Amino acid sequence: MKHTGSCHCKAISFEFEGPEIDSGLRCNCSICVRKGAVMTAFIVDPDEMYIDDKQGLLEHYEFGSGVARHYFCRACGIYPFHQTLRKKDHYRINIGCLENIDSLSIPYEIFNGASL
Ligand SMILES: [Zn+2]
Repeated sequence: MKHTGSCHCKAISFEFEGPEIDSGLRCNCSICVRKGAVMTAFIVDPDEMYIDDKQGLLEHYEFGSGVARHYFCRACGIYPFHQTLRKKDHYRINIGCLENIDSLSIPYEIFNGASL
């Protein structure tokens, strides 16, 4: 099914194809624990991700190996999605940025990213 989302100021919006979202994922690695977001348990193929960033406000942060890319909006600071360490160029999405889903009412698992 198609999911749509945006950052807080809506400068960045996005769409992707994925399964129905009935659970999420949180991670205890050094950056995820600071964001505190509930992410998609599945990853999104780059071919199935459409990002609309007309104002060029999408920025990303890298650390460590530089494989993962942690995106944020330069206007509102919100993290909408990142490209994962585990599967290069593939996305996990911040469920809190999606329409029609309450990210705080779905169950989630905790991924032990701190151990990597
Ligand atoms: Zn924004």
